Amino acid sequence: MADLDRQRYERLLEEMARREAPVVIRRKTESWLQGFIDSALRVLTLGGQDRYLTDYVTTLGTTIWVPATWEDWSYRARYKVLRHELVHVRQFERYTWPGMVLIYGFFPLPAGLAWGRAMLEWEAYAVTLEVEAELDGLAAAADPALHEEIVRRFTGPDYGWMWPFEGWVRMRIAETLTAISRRPPMP
Ligand SMILES: [Zn+2]
Repeated sequence: MADLDRQRYERLLEEMARREAPVVIRRKTESWLQGFIDSALRVLTLGGQDRYLTDYVTTLGTTIWVPATWEDWSYRARYKVLRHELVHVRQFERYTWPGMVLIYGFFPLPAGLAWGRAMLEWEAYAVTLEVEAELDGLAAAADPALHEEIVRRFTGPDYGWMWPFEGWVRMRIAETLTAISRRPPMP
Protein backbone atom coordinates (compact mmCIF):
# COMPACT_ATOMS: atom_id res chain seq x y z
CA MET A 1 0.00 0.00 0.00
CA ALA A 2 2.70 2.47 1.03
CA ASP A 3 4.84 1.50 -1.97
CA LEU A 4 1.89 1.93 -4.27
CA ASP A 5 1.22 5.37 -2.82
CA ARG A 6 4.81 6.37 -3.38
CA GLN A 7 4.83 5.08 -6.97
CA ARG A 8 1.61 6.90 -7.75
CA TYR A 9 3.02 10.12 -6.31
CA GLU A 10 6.31 9.80 -8.17
CA ARG A 11 4.55 9.03 -11.44
CA LEU A 12 2.56 12.23 -11.04
CA LEU A 13 5.75 14.22 -10.38
CA GLU A 14 7.24 12.76 -13.56
CA GLU A 15 4.17 13.74 -15.54
CA MET A 16 4.42 17.24 -14.12
CA ALA A 17 8.06 17.51 -15.11
CA ARG A 18 7.39 16.21 -18.63
CA ARG A 19 4.73 18.81 -19.45
CA GLU A 20 5.45 21.39 -22.12
CA ALA A 21 5.48 23.92 -19.29
CA PRO A 22 6.86 21.84 -16.42
CA VAL A 23 5.14 22.20 -13.06
CA VAL A 24 7.54 22.71 -10.16
CA ILE A 25 7.06 22.36 -6.42
CA ARG A 26 8.65 24.98 -4.16
CA ARG A 27 8.53 25.72 -0.45
CA LYS A 28 6.62 28.78 0.63
CA THR A 29 9.34 29.56 3.15
CA GLU A 30 11.80 30.15 0.27
CA SER A 31 9.85 33.10 -1.06
CA TRP A 32 9.47 36.60 0.33
CA LEU A 33 6.30 36.99 -1.74
CA GLN A 34 4.70 34.02 0.04
CA GLY A 35 5.59 35.63 3.39
CA PHE A 36 3.98 38.82 2.18
CA ILE A 37 0.81 37.00 1.05
CA ASP A 38 0.66 35.32 4.48
CA SER A 39 0.82 38.68 6.27
CA ALA A 40 -1.74 40.22 3.91
CA LEU A 41 -4.18 37.33 4.44
CA ARG A 42 -3.88 37.58 8.23
CA VAL A 43 -4.82 41.25 8.02
CA LEU A 44 -7.56 40.87 5.39
CA THR A 45 -9.26 37.97 7.19
CA LEU A 46 -8.72 39.50 10.65
CA GLY A 47 -6.62 36.50 11.61
CA GLY A 48 -9.16 34.01 10.19
CA GLN A 49 -6.57 32.65 7.74
CA ASP A 50 -3.36 32.26 9.76
CA ARG A 51 -2.30 28.86 8.37
CA TYR A 52 -1.39 29.93 4.84
CA LEU A 53 2.33 29.17 5.25
CA THR A 54 2.01 26.12 7.46
CA ASP A 55 -0.99 24.14 6.18
CA TYR A 56 -1.91 25.36 2.72
CA VAL A 57 -0.71 24.54 -0.74
CA THR A 58 -1.03 27.33 -3.29
CA THR A 59 -0.63 27.30 -7.05
CA LEU A 60 0.62 30.34 -8.93
CA GLY A 61 1.15 29.72 -12.62
CA THR A 62 3.14 26.51 -12.98
CA THR A 63 4.59 26.67 -9.47
CA ILE A 64 2.93 24.78 -6.66
CA TRP A 65 3.94 26.37 -3.35
CA VAL A 66 3.96 23.97 -0.42
CA PRO A 67 4.43 24.36 3.34
CA ALA A 68 7.75 23.47 4.99
CA THR A 69 6.21 20.25 6.38
CA TRP A 70 5.30 18.96 2.88
CA GLU A 71 7.78 16.06 2.98
CA ASP A 72 6.22 14.85 6.24
CA TRP A 73 2.81 14.44 4.61
CA SER A 74 1.97 10.93 3.41
CA TYR A 75 2.48 10.23 -0.30
CA ARG A 76 -1.23 9.65 -0.51
CA ALA A 77 -2.11 13.04 0.99
CA ARG A 78 0.42 14.80 -1.24
CA TYR A 79 -0.90 13.05 -4.33
CA LYS A 80 -4.47 14.09 -3.56
CA VAL A 81 -3.50 17.72 -3.01
CA LEU A 82 -1.41 17.83 -6.20
CA ARG A 83 -4.34 16.58 -8.26
CA HIS A 84 -6.41 19.49 -6.91
CA GLU A 85 -3.59 21.98 -7.54
CA LEU A 86 -3.06 20.76 -11.11
CA VAL A 87 -6.57 21.97 -11.87
CA HIS A 88 -5.36 25.43 -10.87
CA VAL A 89 -2.27 25.07 -13.08
CA ARG A 90 -4.55 24.42 -16.04
CA GLN A 91 -6.72 27.38 -15.05
CA PHE A 92 -3.65 29.65 -15.14
CA GLU A 93 -2.91 28.34 -18.63
CA ARG A 94 -6.52 28.82 -19.72
CA TYR A 95 -7.10 32.31 -18.29
CA THR A 96 -3.49 33.61 -18.11
CA TRP A 97 -1.97 35.34 -15.09
CA PRO A 98 -3.84 38.66 -15.39
CA GLY A 99 -7.06 36.76 -15.98
CA MET A 100 -6.52 34.63 -12.88
CA VAL A 101 -5.67 37.62 -10.70
CA LEU A 102 -8.87 39.28 -11.82
CA ILE A 103 -11.19 36.26 -11.69
CA TYR A 104 -9.70 34.63 -8.58
CA GLY A 105 -8.90 37.79 -6.70
CA PHE A 106 -11.52 40.33 -7.42
CA PHE A 107 -14.60 39.19 -9.32
CA PRO A 108 -17.02 40.63 -8.43
CA LEU A 109 -15.68 41.18 -4.88
CA PRO A 110 -12.41 40.13 -3.21
CA ALA A 111 -14.34 38.67 -0.25
CA GLY A 112 -17.89 37.82 0.74
CA LEU A 113 -19.06 37.23 -2.81
CA ALA A 114 -16.06 36.10 -4.82
CA TRP A 115 -17.93 34.32 -7.58
CA GLY A 116 -14.84 33.88 -9.77
CA ARG A 117 -12.82 32.31 -6.96
CA ALA A 118 -15.72 30.06 -5.98
CA MET A 119 -16.11 28.77 -9.55
CA LEU A 120 -12.37 28.13 -9.94
CA GLU A 121 -12.17 26.42 -6.55
CA TRP A 122 -15.25 24.36 -7.24
CA GLU A 123 -13.63 22.96 -10.40
CA ALA A 124 -10.67 21.89 -8.24
CA TYR A 125 -12.76 20.54 -5.34
CA ALA A 126 -14.75 18.40 -7.78
CA VAL A 127 -11.43 16.76 -8.62
CA THR A 128 -10.71 16.41 -4.89
CA LEU A 129 -13.90 14.32 -4.63
CA GLU A 130 -12.99 12.32 -7.74
CA VAL A 131 -9.52 11.52 -6.39
CA GLU A 132 -10.99 10.55 -3.04
CA ALA A 133 -13.27 8.06 -4.82
CA GLU A 134 -10.43 6.84 -7.04
CA LEU A 135 -8.10 6.09 -4.14
CA ASP A 136 -10.39 5.30 -1.23
CA GLY A 137 -13.71 4.42 -2.83
CA LEU A 138 -17.06 6.12 -3.21
CA ALA A 139 -17.78 5.87 0.53
CA ALA A 140 -14.74 8.05 1.25
CA ALA A 141 -15.91 10.63 -1.28
CA ALA A 142 -19.37 10.51 0.30
CA ASP A 143 -18.04 11.03 3.84
CA PRO A 144 -20.05 13.86 5.47
CA ALA A 145 -16.93 15.05 7.35
CA LEU A 146 -15.20 15.73 4.02
CA HIS A 147 -18.28 17.59 2.77
CA GLU A 148 -18.39 19.74 5.92
CA GLU A 149 -14.74 20.61 5.39
CA ILE A 150 -15.39 21.63 1.77
CA VAL A 151 -18.45 23.69 2.76
CA ARG A 152 -16.41 25.39 5.51
CA ARG A 153 -13.69 26.29 3.03
CA PHE A 154 -16.17 27.97 0.71
CA THR A 155 -18.13 29.81 3.37
CA GLY A 156 -15.42 30.48 5.98
CA PRO A 157 -12.27 32.58 6.26
CA ASP A 158 -9.88 30.06 4.57
CA TYR A 159 -10.48 31.61 1.16
CA GLY A 160 -11.77 34.94 2.42
CA TRP A 161 -15.44 33.92 2.81
CA MET A 162 -15.59 33.45 -0.93
CA TRP A 163 -19.12 32.09 -1.19
CA PRO A 164 -21.98 32.58 1.27
CA PHE A 165 -24.34 30.03 -0.27
CA GLU A 166 -23.83 26.81 1.66
CA GLY A 167 -26.74 25.13 -0.16
CA TRP A 168 -25.05 25.73 -3.50
CA VAL A 169 -21.87 24.00 -2.32
CA ARG A 170 -23.85 21.03 -0.99
CA MET A 171 -25.78 20.76 -4.25
CA ARG A 172 -22.59 20.71 -6.31
CA ILE A 173 -21.09 18.06 -4.02
CA ALA A 174 -24.20 15.90 -4.44
CA GLU A 175 -24.16 16.31 -8.23
CA THR A 176 -20.50 15.40 -8.42
CA LEU A 177 -21.00 12.29 -6.28
CA THR A 178 -23.88 11.20 -8.51
CA ALA A 179 -21.69 11.64 -11.60
CA ILE A 180 -18.85 9.69 -10.00
CA SER A 181 -21.13 6.86 -8.90
CA ARG A 182 -22.46 6.44 -12.45
CA ARG A 183 -19.02 5.94 -13.89
CA PRO A 184 -17.81 2.44 -14.54
CA PRO A 185 -15.33 1.34 -11.88
CA MET A 186 -11.62 1.82 -12.60
CA PRO A 187 -9.92 -1.34 -13.87
ZN1 LIG B 1 -7.82 25.17 -4.74
